[in-house]
Amino acid sequence: MNRKLLHRFALYSLLITALCGLALAQQTTPGITPDPDLLRQHVTYLASDKLAGRRTGSSGASLAADYISREFSRLGLRRSIGVDLPGMSILEADSPRRYQQEFPYVAGVELGTNNLLNLNSGRAEDRAPARLSEDWIPLGFSANGKIRKAPYVFVGYGITAAELKYDSYAGRALKGLVAIALAGTPDGDKPHGQFARYEEVRWKAIAARNAGASALLVIARAENLKDDRLARLTYDNSAGDAGLPVGVISQQTAARLFTPSRDVSETMKTLTEAAGSTGLRIASLQFKGVTLSLTIDIKRHEVTATNVVGILPGSDPQLKDEIIVLGAHYDHLGEGGEGSLAPRSGDIHHGADDNASGVAGLLELARIFSGQESRPRRTLVFMAFSGEEEGLLGSNYYVNHPLMPLANTIAMINMDMIGRMKENKLIIGGIGTAPDWRALVENANVSGSVKVSAAVAGGNGVEVTQAAHSVVASGGPALASSDYGKQFQLTLNEDGFGPSDHSSFYTKQIPVLFFWTGTHEDYHKPSDTADKINYGDEARIVALVARIVNDVDKSDKRPTYAVAKSDATGRATGFRVYLGTIPNYSDSNDGLLLDGVRDDSPAAKAGLKAGDRIVKLAGRDVRNVYDYTYALGEMKAGQEYEIEVLRAGERMKLKLIPAARK
Ligand SMILES: [Zn+2]
Repeated sequence: MNRKLLHRFALYSLLITALCGLALAQQTTPGITPDPDLLRQHVTYLASDKLAGRRTGSSGASLAADYISREFSRLGLRRSIGVDLPGMSILEADSPRRYQQEFPYVAGVELGTNNLLNLNSGRAEDRAPARLSEDWIPLGFSANGKIRKAPYVFVGYGITAAELKYDSYAGRALKGLVAIALAGTPDGDKPHGQFARYEEVRWKAIAARNAGASALLVIARAENLKDDRLARLTYDNSAGDAGLPVGVISQQTAARLFTPSRDVSETMKTLTEAAGSTGLRIASLQFKGVTLSLTIDIKRHEVTATNVVGILPGSDPQLKDEIIVLGAHYDHLGEGGEGSLAPRSGDIHHGADDNASGVAGLLELARIFSGQESRPRRTLVFMAFSGEEEGLLGSNYYVNHPLMPLANTIAMINMDMIGRMKENKLIIGGIGTAPDWRALVENANVSGSVKVSAAVAGGNGVEVTQAAHSVVASGGPALASSDYGKQFQLTLNEDGFGPSDHSSFYTKQIPVLFFWTGTHEDYHKPSDTADKINYGDEARIVALVARIVNDVDKSDKRPTYAVAKSDATGRATGFRVYLGTIPNYSDSNDGLLLDGVRDDSPAAKAGLKAGDRIVKLAGRDVRNVYDYTYALGEMKAGQEYEIEVLRAGERMKLKLIPAARK
């Protein structure tokens, strides 16, 4: 479960109903049933110290991938249908690696040998360059670059927020200047203030770039640079580099830049006052003739990460071309760092619930369906993703490099954190992504061990005491009075976007379902351990998923894709406008590629099409999704803007009128 995205979809946690459900006897389904002991075995291994938290790209993650591959192999799953497909690593025939789809991943950034920050002041004590890691350090997403003797200027918090009528740059162009900004926002430490989304240095870097600055240096918030969050040299894989050199400097360095006495507390007080709380004109805090020289040299350490993919071919000559994807991510946070909620890093984050539980469920589903006497009619594809915690990287890679046609992929069913059920409550997301889902899910949720009355023609109530599930699935009008006889207390969410891998499939207009038992006090902490998993309830959830997969497979008609109501409201994302684009979230620096546009949306009316690459929006250059989001934040509903796209190699300009976000 991805923490940043979870924030965006905070409604998920609010939607958990306060109702208390009645736990009923376990469903008696004919055939193979999920085994709590096997679930425990899988989780215990995946969440063990040996795998060290399964951080994407680490050896622990490789061990997990090999374990899943071996299980797929043991269950007789195929690597591919027919011929070998590109993207799968072809090693010896019986290697478990044959199930692995590799994708590139930046496991970390390192400092190169040429980093330099020099203050050219003429003062003797400035002759030596600033000390790397103590006085300053580049940020992980900085572009490499070299700037010689450039003047610098203080730009307050370095924030441009049109809807808040706040502009640190006051529209001024900074051609050739180095912008120096305070960390944080005018809100101070208020956690959910109106500026919250501008705190990220990513946004400050875009604002600086848009203002024409040659580089951005942010002043550390911590007194000691080494203690500052920004000094950690991390890299997020979702959006490429910043497009200009970006670094963080210590408060001591800031004092050297801005105050003749070089007193740190005086400097910070002066700068904070100059930045003000209500916006600012650029403060002319600068010494005549003093310049900065800056060289940033960062090496990105690229490794391969892997998705594990196993295929159970369908039995029906026609329907086998249709694919149902079952997914769960196997990566976690390693020993902390980015995404961790632990007070300190260095401890193994076991990730038993997040998401060894989902992988165990996936393996049980693979065992159930591959062991059934009558094979599913459609092809089932079992996918264990990596890179989820870093931004849904593995699933995103898959949907952009699919091993089987996405057009034939009729549904994606995702399990992420299904091991900590409380009070029989289960959350299912994606209900709005196909009109078929609600009835199908509610019907599957009826307990077969409870008497169910089915209304038949003629009006006589008939007692059905077994296999209520198949009565439902065969399409009868049936169904139980619904207040009791429910397996789970369900919370059904419409949205197809959410904080896990189903989002990637939904962006490709594939109906999705997402199973989740909710967050808890051990979420993203070392204490998410195997002994805390509720294996009995997890087995019941896996049985429900199996039943839903069965029902989808039994239906002759595939689920119909629909645009779901979004839980990520304008309020949550901070945007006032709606365009109706479906962006491709893969790593890119040459514009924002569109996977599609919503019917009748402003984007559709403007003439935007799938495959267009947005390179300019409302006067802003767009290199990646961050730039795009930034430009979106500046737009007003009902006003006409120009949008520039690359289509089939041609640059073209279109007119776009955003709608107000409801
Ligand atoms: Zn997570």
